[in-house]
Amino acid sequence: MRYSLNHIAAILSAKAVTGDTGVVVEHLVTDSRRIFFPAASLFFALETNRRDGHLFIPEVYERGVRCFVVRNGFDATNYAGASFLFVHDTLAALQSIAADHRRQFNYPVIGITGSNGKTIVKEWLYQLLNTDYNIVRSPRSYNSQVGVPLSVWQMNMQHNMAIFEAGISTTGEMDKLEKIIQPTIGVLTNLGAAHNEGFENETQKLQEKLLLFRHCGVVIARDIDVAAYVGFAKYINSPLKLLTWGNKASNTFVVASVQRNQFDTVIILAYKTERLTVTIPFTDHASVENAITCACVLLQLGVSTATIARRMLQLQPVDMRLQLLHGINNCVVINDSYSFDITSLSVGLDFLLQQQQHARKTVVMSDIPGASGDTMYREIADMLYARNIEKIITIGTQWLTYKNVLTAKVAVTQQYLDTASFIRQFSANHFRNEALLLKGARVFGFEKIVALLEKKVHQTVMEVNLNAVVHNLNEYKARLQKGVKVMGMVKAFAYGSGSAEVASLLQFHKIDYLAVAYADEGVELRKAGIHLPIMVMNVDEAAFETIAEHNLEPELFSFNILQLFLQFLERNALQQYPVHLKIDSGMHRLGFEEKDMPALLPLLRANNRIVVQSVFSHLASSEDAGDDAFTTQQSQAYERCCVLIKEALGYRFIMHLSNSAAIFRRPELQYNMVRLGIGLYGVDSSNAHQLSLQTVATLKTTIAQLRNVAAGDTIGYNRRGKTERASVIATIRIGYADGFRRHLGYGKGKVFVHGKAAPVIGTVAMDMTMIDVTDIPGVKEGDEVEIFGKNIPVQQVAQWCNTIPYEILTGINQRVKRIYVEE
Ligand SMILES: *Cc1c(COP(=O)(O)O)cnc(C)c1O
Repeated sequence: MRYSLNHIAAILSAKAVTGDTGVVVEHLVTDSRRIFFPAASLFFALETNRRDGHLFIPEVYERGVRCFVVRNGFDATNYAGASFLFVHDTLAALQSIAADHRRQFNYPVIGITGSNGKTIVKEWLYQLLNTDYNIVRSPRSYNSQVGVPLSVWQMNMQHNMAIFEAGISTTGEMDKLEKIIQPTIGVLTNLGAAHNEGFENETQKLQEKLLLFRHCGVVIARDIDVAAYVGFAKYINSPLKLLTWGNKASNTFVVASVQRNQFDTVIILAYKTERLTVTIPFTDHASVENAITCACVLLQLGVSTATIARRMLQLQPVDMRLQLLHGINNCVVINDSYSFDITSLSVGLDFLLQQQQHARKTVVMSDIPGASGDTMYREIADMLYARNIEKIITIGTQWLTYKNVLTAKVAVTQQYLDTASFIRQFSANHFRNEALLLKGARVFGFEKIVALLEKKVHQTVMEVNLNAVVHNLNEYKARLQKGVKVMGMVKAFAYGSGSAEVASLLQFHKIDYLAVAYADEGVELRKAGIHLPIMVMNVDEAAFETIAEHNLEPELFSFNILQLFLQFLERNALQQYPVHLKIDSGMHRLGFEEKDMPALLPLLRANNRIVVQSVFSHLASSEDAGDDAFTTQQSQAYERCCVLIKEALGYRFIMHLSNSAAIFRRPELQYNMVRLGIGLYGVDSSNAHQLSLQTVATLKTTIAQLRNVAAGDTIGYNRRGKTERASVIATIRIGYADGFRRHLGYGKGKVFVHGKAAPVIGTVAMDMTMIDVTDIPGVKEGDEVEIFGKNIPVQQVAQWCNTIPYEILTGINQRVKRIYVEE
């Protein structure tokens, strides 16, 4: 995809200003964090209700980008050598360029929509068809108004099939996506209840989805998904072939039988005169539906039944999650070895670059299955070069053949013939303080490499879902008044979730400020490569050295600490040091009170050693409607103090008062910034259920032993547990030393095993606990047990313990390994 800027300006009928419009554009970018080829990139300043891309133009320019699409009226002076295309709507411009690009290609384009299973069907079709076709497809689940044009832009002459997914959340969106994708084959996956909010009713949602198929030659759908909708044909081009599948004999593809076994499912489909029997290595309902959809597409494309059966047996689970593991010698390891192609490599590299705790980045990669010639290898070499990856390890014979392709661009550290030879020559000493991306096709068995690099610990883990953190951040951001900044509270090991990892993520997502409780926590963040401003809330004299050394910003909350800090600055000849002033507006914990103002103001007026970045206070009862009057009173006292302080200082500072609960309960108290804590971690402390937060932390362990115990026997310390019937008792690997509290003993607490809740029996011991699984069939030693997470909310566990979720989350011992996942 190489377009001159002139050509793009013509497509957009845009007025172009300055610069060299003959410059060639290869990459369309909308995210200032993902610019790898600045000289050949065109930046679209998109405006969403969350973010105005125009604000990032100075930064993007700084990084070397010289071509921009901006809204009419944007002030483009002061960008020497840059070209600007002026348009009415930057998103519409991105979409029409993609639509124009799409029209250059005549090969089949499969467009997938539906409520569930879009990404799985897309990935499975890719798995099933990539030996016959050179396929371009949406990365991950890039199916939005921005994701779709970026996906379509990847189409080129080398491909001969495209598979794109389209996701919508409100009316009017599908019309735009259809114009960009222009699918020739339509696939409708299961229509569930996702995204109902944006539509008046079910029919409207369906009609909207069907717009994707307006110009398709054929559409494949499940009978009950379309039967409910009578006017289907009206929305589609007339010579449309609607091919349905289902149990009824009137369907194009008749599901003759579905037989579930313990580990696989046998599906028989009748199509025309043919009979297709496939076995898939899955048993869950959704997988069976998705597999049938895929089989129908393949039949329709004319793939033989024998080939379909052979390939479907090999279907791999679509794990779009990238696992971030703690590795040996302080490494972090991204395990991404479920498939290997250019699209998924770029997703993995993005995630690797986010790991700012290690400057050194390493990529271990296998050959690309099915690649012919060196084109793809060249492309990969360019990608690695653009991202400054210095240490590269290849495994496989193809890479040995194309060594020169790689060495022309980047230094290859080592090459191995196969995974076995890598393992034979493996030495732990070769990996230290680095972030590694393991990218290998399934056949290379990279899980053996993962096992070597992963640090071994006991089997209780806390899984932290990084996407959920981002989702929750956005959920709150959507409730902020324009221009309000966010301070992310990452104190207490980021509420138990891991401060370096969470802070890296927040930094990547451009949060404005971070706050920690103690200076040492701030140091940890600096060591992890966090350059955001960090406020330290609980400072004492002993921490001043550390604070200054690591560029941390102290909260000054009393005359004593203020005087001591001023003296410290004086001794060290430091000037204009950034600090934060804490007001006690009614919490009575830390801070200057209103009555302290007359004494405080002269101190502030007189000095230039400190610069007050912010003045803030903390609400005592923001989650409680019963205390709203008190909250208001606090805010008034706080405002009065701010007025006085501002007058004394003579300059502006950031004002902030709200914690998570106040952000949406009291939107009028957002001032210039909010402090987001527990909400980021998925807990709505006011329990108002007005926000749709996602679960961030899942604490899980495994079953160490199972035993049958007769009725009337006793279990555990002091014989506190008694069986009332013949029972099956499981011992799980978690105890109060891990943060599984003794309150949860004697049946008070429950854990989640095999889809059911199992009560604790007897007392909780230091490292182990017994649970009663008599009523849960099929439990085995080694099975996974959820302590809290999606099935047992941490709020529930807190309730059992008569405490608040904050205490449960921050009470999980550091010996419990944290695993980070990104979907
Ligand atoms: C912890 C903390 C917060 C965050 O509170 P949440 O209820 O977790 O959002 C905000 N401000 C201060 C001063 C805090 O100590």
